[in-house]
Amino acid sequence: MRARLLILSLAALPLTLAAQRRGEVFTHADSIRGSDTPERAWWDVTFYDLHVAVSPSDSSIRGWNGITYKVTGPSRRMQIDLQVPLEVDSMVQDGQRLAYQRDSNAFFVALTAPQPVGATKTVTVYYHGHPRTAVRAPWDGGFVWAKDSLGRDWIATACEGLGASVWWPNKDYLADEPDSQRIAITVPDPLQDVSNGRLRNVTHHRNNTTTYEWFVTAPINNYDVAVNAAVYAHFEEDYAGESGKLTMNFWPLAYHLDTARVQFQQAKTMMKCFEHWFGPYPFYADGYQLVETPHLGMEHQSAIAYGNHYKDGYYANGQGIDLSHSGQGLGWDFIIVHESAHEWFGNSITMQDQADMWIHESFANYAENLFVECGAGKDAGAQYVIGTRANVQNDRPIIAPYGVNAEGSGDMYYKGGNLLHTIRQIVNDDEKWRGILRGLSHTFYHQTVTTRQIESYISAQAGVDLSPVFDQYLRTTQLPVFEYRLVDSTLLYRWTDAVPGFDLPVRVTVADGTWDLIHPAARWQVAHVHLSNPDLFRVDDNYYVLAARTPVRPPMKPAGASR
Ligand SMILES: [Zn+2]
Repeated sequence: MRARLLILSLAALPLTLAAQRRGEVFTHADSIRGSDTPERAWWDVTFYDLHVAVSPSDSSIRGWNGITYKVTGPSRRMQIDLQVPLEVDSMVQDGQRLAYQRDSNAFFVALTAPQPVGATKTVTVYYHGHPRTAVRAPWDGGFVWAKDSLGRDWIATACEGLGASVWWPNKDYLADEPDSQRIAITVPDPLQDVSNGRLRNVTHHRNNTTTYEWFVTAPINNYDVAVNAAVYAHFEEDYAGESGKLTMNFWPLAYHLDTARVQFQQAKTMMKCFEHWFGPYPFYADGYQLVETPHLGMEHQSAIAYGNHYKDGYYANGQGIDLSHSGQGLGWDFIIVHESAHEWFGNSITMQDQADMWIHESFANYAENLFVECGAGKDAGAQYVIGTRANVQNDRPIIAPYGVNAEGSGDMYYKGGNLLHTIRQIVNDDEKWRGILRGLSHTFYHQTVTTRQIESYISAQAGVDLSPVFDQYLRTTQLPVFEYRLVDSTLLYRWTDAVPGFDLPVRVTVADGTWDLIHPAARWQVAHVHLSNPDLFRVDDNYYVLAARTPVRPPMKPAGASR
């Protein structure tokens, strides 16, 4: 989803060094939330068995989660996360109640049974309370208690960044995903819950509630696990995809069925385009679903949350707007395209640390331009991604400090998308570039990853060491400046505001209507161009760099000629 404002607590020490440098303050609680603590590191989640009854009449929930894990190291002290104001009623293992201490949003549990390495064990956590109500979902999330236009309850959850522990007990650490999960949600009639994966059972109860039991067979990042409850209509279509028959299930509010039957056709257009560029949809076994929600949208795995009001463009202030300002962002539904792109980048391939969220958002932003390209051609796609540069702030680095659940600059969207567009220029071979994108999907299928893994993979496949390029765009707030001076046919040029060793060949006009690659460096280079007018000199817009013609006479000894 789109970036939220980062709200940092000003309480408590110690500061991390990186945070001090950037003037940000992180707390003990941030470290417990965002790092692989000793109480997390010794066990690997294999299955969550989540059962929650939702009561909109008093905005409360009550339930339990069976946390099954494999023991990977010697310990009996376990961290389980559940955020205030929710209360744990009890924790149980092998029929024995467990003792625990609470440290705000984390519980430290003293296990009594032996935990032999290699064993599979389960802790069951019973809990209840009034979960945090979302302030401005999906950015400032929690539970959304809304009403549809007929006054009926319309409930959703959205908790990216904040964490799934805002509504259910789990190991709230992105690097550890269960191999599969049950999500059994009980809601008052006539609401229906739509969660992730496939519906296995529906059980009606005598107290006028119904339990909807959903099952996800793939690893799932815990912020993707969702409640969506409303009076829904439903239609299903089969899609002939790269890996065979894919079921696509659509859940609009009941009175939006006719509108949805038209608008949601775009999901198939999306699927065709993204399977071409990214490879097979990553969750054939669980299917694809699109679920109407009272908030704008979220990449909930195999159950994409949709709240774009059936408008093309990006919904804001009652209408669809073009986030690219180029005219290319209006003819398609932003939420269907952007959130579904996360099935490949975000859900199948998931960041291990919130700091590396560019892996989700830069690729999802970049996917928007590929979607435009699929429908309107390569130039239109380029106009789109280039147009989104107007939204770049260069306020903070895209990659945030590690281990404290921190999120980097919102530039992870538009600047990150343009980083990828620039790398496509470096690769300079569209089929090879497509192979790299599909290779990412294949290589890191259903895995959690670090940015270094993604960066190294792209460099290796491109056959170019792109590490200075990644450093420049992901770890600084400077855009590289192509500084040049043009006297008659002599072009002097260099990089400024660039990281040491910054290496990015760029395409420039070398004669009227003729483009060629040159290789700027930190020191002045010289080349000869043949332009009828020096004002016709251009750096290709597809490279996300600034060009500055300098009136200052550069040093008279250029550091070696280039072509
Ligand atoms: Zn997103």
